Amino acid sequence: MESLSSYQELWDKVKAKLASHYSESIYKESFENTYVYKVVGSKIIVIVPSPYIEAKINSKYLSQIKEITDSLSLQKCEFKFQTKAHFESENLQYELPKKLRINNLDPRFTFDNFVSGSSNIVAFRSAMKIAENPGVINPLYIFGSVGLGKTHLMGAIGNYISEIYPDYKVLYVQASDFAKEYVEATQTKNMAPFIEKYSDLDVFLVDDIQQIQSKELTQFEFFNLFNELYMNKKQIVITSDNPANKLKIMPRLTSRFESGLVVDITNPDLSQRIDILKKKLEERNVNFTLSDDALEFIASNVTDNIRALDGALNRVINYCEIMIQTNHIELHHAQEALQNILSSKMVSKTKNADDLIDIVAEFYQVTKNDLISPNRNQKYVLPRQICMFLLKKQFDLTYSKIGKILGGRDHSTVMSGATKIEKEYDLNFELKTAIDTITSKLNKVDN
Ligand code: ADP
Ligand code: MG
Repeated sequence: MESLSSYQELWDKVKAKLASHYSESIYKESFENTYVYKVVGSKIIVIVPSPYIEAKINSKYLSQIKEITDSLSLQKCEFKFQTKAHFESENLQYELPKKLRINNLDPRFTFDNFVSGSSNIVAFRSAMKIAENPGVINPLYIFGSVGLGKTHLMGAIGNYISEIYPDYKVLYVQASDFAKEYVEATQTKNMAPFIEKYSDLDVFLVDDIQQIQSKELTQFEFFNLFNELYMNKKQIVITSDNPANKLKIMPRLTSRFESGLVVDITNPDLSQRIDILKKKLEERNVNFTLSDDALEFIASNVTDNIRALDGALNRVINYCEIMIQTNHIELHHAQEALQNILSSKMVSKTKNADDLIDIVAEFYQVTKNDLISPNRNQKYVLPRQICMFLLKKQFDLTYSKIGKILGGRDHSTVMSGATKIEKEYDLNFELKTAIDTITSKLNKVDN
């Protein structure tokens, strides 16, 4: 089997199976317009119509394709799916002297690991379109609240362009750094490094443009730079926490920003948050599994933004690794790990102050009587203060009430005990671990 057309025939067989496996719309979108282009080593290169389809096939359909090739006894055929531009750029790099520029972007920001859904699909597809044809639509303006993926998407554009066009000069900057560099340059009357850095760009990525609000001179400089790049059909991408007309900036800049492609990112819904958790777990490449209800628990309780969601997942994994030493995470593990950050939402409704004192006593191997006795032996003082702290935090009792419960201590003793623990909580790992364990026991629902 040598000629290209015989490989095309093989691919056509696979396509026919794909057509019967997937719905017509999926087939049409992802597979219909694909063809065998070359064979490189052991890989059969299949050209796909856009980077969006490339990412989709590689993230969603590979296992099905593998099943089909296996069923056709084509195990030896390894298909690789790429846009033509992507293929050419990868293969040119071996022949040309390396002009490759290193961009200053986080390499983890890619389209592949950006989970799309209704909250961001327009932004996502627009970003891909821009990355595929830099300089055609200008500028791209992405806005949305913090932690929803603006910087990620911007980084993905830059990384994609750098890969496809290795000699392009791609520069990412935080708007606040741009402002700082400009002010320094004018103050030291040494503009050369500034000009050198910002001239001659092919792709200019400016993150968090709201940071130059009320900095008129910086805005003016930015406006000039923007115009020059714009006239030369260089790609400009801007992110912001707000639509341009809500920013306190020169009206000229506002209208420039509004004249390009404007997209927003909103909060993802529950199912998208679950998808994101799954993706993040997969990316970590750790040997951890989460039960479906554990995933759903995290996704339904951590709703602020995606950064917080990622942080919560981290917390659950660390907790399970260190405290429980398990790598299969069940619902109750996730609940225990997150109870402190989810605070009052989850505080046990079924346990009372007595239960707490019992748990602390058991944890420290002392008796309840020791804790309420006047004995000031260090062995009892710490667990007693932990009781003070947790009775306040978990049950929101007054200091004098807590004093009464703990053997008739006065209000100021309780207050200073509770405050001491509160201060130490973040500084003392051992103490923190103890308190977290006690709290998780308290919040554990008894069967
Ligand atoms: P923003 O710039 O809007 O404040 P970031 O781009 O810094 O937000 O995103 C915060 C974190 O969430 C990053 O780690 C990013 O990779 C991740 N993230 C955001 N959106 C997504 C998404 N749709 N899919 C996967 N990860 C995402
Ligand atoms: Mg950001």
